[in-house]
Amino acid sequence: MIKNIKLFVNGRDNSIECAKLVERKLRINDFNVVDDDYNLGIAIGGDGTFIKMVRDNNFNSDIYYVGINTGHLGFLQEVKIDELDKLIDELKNNKYKVCNLGIQETNVKHLNGEDNFYSLNEIVIRDSDLKILKTNVFINDDFLEEYTGDGLLIATSTGSTAYNLSCGGSIVPPEFSTLQITPMAPINSRVYRSMQNSIIIPEKTKVKLSPNNKKVLVSIDGLNNVFEEVDTISTSIEDKKIKCLRFSHYNFPQKINEKLLKQ
Ligand code: NAP
Repeated sequence: MIKNIKLFVNGRDNSIECAKLVERKLRINDFNVVDDDYNLGIAIGGDGTFIKMVRDNNFNSDIYYVGINTGHLGFLQEVKIDELDKLIDELKNNKYKVCNLGIQETNVKHLNGEDNFYSLNEIVIRDSDLKILKTNVFINDDFLEEYTGDGLLIATSTGSTAYNLSCGGSIVPPEFSTLQITPMAPINSRVYRSMQNSIIIPEKTKVKLSPNNKKVLVSIDGLNNVFEEVDTISTSIEDKKIKCLRFSHYNFPQKINEKLLKQ
């Protein structure tokens, strides 16, 4: 039973105002608004605020997450400000749905050792000076291609509606724990031949890259890291999932229509 709630608010005036209202309504309805030992995190802002909340909780799988949209798009933000009473009703009566989102796990082996990352949306691999990226791509140690182009974007189903979509990738419903390898401006000529389209792979399947470039940029949900002499970048969805709350009437096609198509 959800009782203790922490609010994660971005710095915008409308989010701060919204947070005051949310806190007041939660307390009136016998919820505790706390800083520690909470079982629900509520992000008040846009998708960026939701991603930051999950990152600040180190992708903790034990708690629930939900977002109230005061941002621009808010695809990950389930609740509109005028739906606050509905959210509280669903929390009080345990009516909400839980969607388990697969978390992407990435390992980078490089000159100075190795680093591990979690991501909710995607990783993007590019040359650090935005030159052409050349890399062999393997799926579970099986050679797929020698890619040449601007970069490779490897997105979760949650991230399929974000940068992946802008790069021509497909939308995947969030309950699928898939990864999607989407090429960014792949080169096709007599010299180079790279996949033009996205490839979707199941969970527990590793995508491994071994870039030839001297310095490689690895962007993790929009946070950039530069590594020298990268040996391999491996990424997959294993067992880690986070629990995201949805309204009982959650409807994925409707969400796409409302957030990505309606003018
Ligand atoms: P940001 O300004 O926080 O986000 C860029 C846009 O992507 C915002 O409109 C954001 O919505 C939206 N967004 C984020 N996650 C989404 C999701 N899962 N589904 C649909 N839309 C989503 O940019 P950032 O801090 O650099 O990076 C955060 C994320 O933004 C990245 O993980 C990446 O997916 C995305 N991004 C997209 C592009 C692109 O489409 N060309 C370029 C860079 C980054 P809100 O307005 O609600 O925050």
